[in-house]
Amino acid sequence: MTILLDGKKAAEELEEHCRKALGQLSYKPILVIIQVGNREESSVYVKQKMKAGERIGIEVRHVTLPEDVSMADALKAIAESNEDVSISGIILQLPVPEHLDSDFLIDAILPAKDVDGMTAVNVKLLVNGTHLGVLPATTRGIMFLLNFYRITIESKRVLIVGRSKLVGKPTALEFLSHGATVTIAHRSTQDLLEEVKRADIVVTAIGAPHFFTRDYFREGQVVIDVGINRQAGKLVGDVDFPNVQDLVAAITPVPGGVGPMTVAALFANLVDTL
Ligand code: NAD
Repeated sequence: MTILLDGKKAAEELEEHCRKALGQLSYKPILVIIQVGNREESSVYVKQKMKAGERIGIEVRHVTLPEDVSMADALKAIAESNEDVSISGIILQLPVPEHLDSDFLIDAILPAKDVDGMTAVNVKLLVNGTHLGVLPATTRGIMFLLNFYRITIESKRVLIVGRSKLVGKPTALEFLSHGATVTIAHRSTQDLLEEVKRADIVVTAIGAPHFFTRDYFREGQVVIDVGINRQAGKLVGDVDFPNVQDLVAAITPVPGGVGPMTVAALFANLVDTL
């Protein structure tokens, strides 16, 4: 029987971890989310984070900058949050408009307040594999979900499809430091089907609705679908969930899989850096 990897259920445990940590504090931490422009998708993600902040007990401040903001003014907004000791975490909501250098802006965030785990310091700690840095939230969420369902990672053959800075690469590195044998597939990969079939754990993060049909999979696999795509007004993953779910050993639904884990992991990152 297939195990449904319920991200909502696992996220509750992570949120509880946050509430417990907050119970030890004499103040309410503040998370600042800096959004440039008003991209609809980004606004939806910001709202989800604000709701989670309310549930957990962390104040979330939404700072919006105009679409045509200059680098200098964007840096100024980040510096203000860096300097404010009452602020514990800063997120630059991605993507930012093309005229801005997102790497430069991210590196302007104090590593101690980098709850997205995207600054150079945290990326280096991830590369070192010492488990000392802040992990990007989606990566942490995936690892927590697998651990929640007692799925072993060590010695497993793991395929990550997608090589983005935000999801694919950091997730691959984290699996590697947990002893998995990791392959990263991307747009130029040949025989993607063969690669997927060979893996014990498959993480899909490409952003293509129901791209991975039943043919790609086999019995016994664990499937983690990171993709969030809109199809005919509905949110669907990269995996054709309705036709794959009964074949594999375990699978995340979309919505209700990696999405809630990412949001909860973000707050867990914040409380763990206090
Ligand atoms: P991205 O566009 O930056 O990267 C996509 C990657 O997929 C690229 O490396 C590309 O080479 C690869 N790719 C695209 N088409 C492919 C194909 N046909 N075959 C093989 N590889 C292919 O995207 P991203 O930021 O990594 O996000 C990926 C998906 O995950 C999106 O749907 C996004 O909305 C979603 N996402 C979800 C969460 C969550 O919490 N669930 C968090 C972040 C992103």
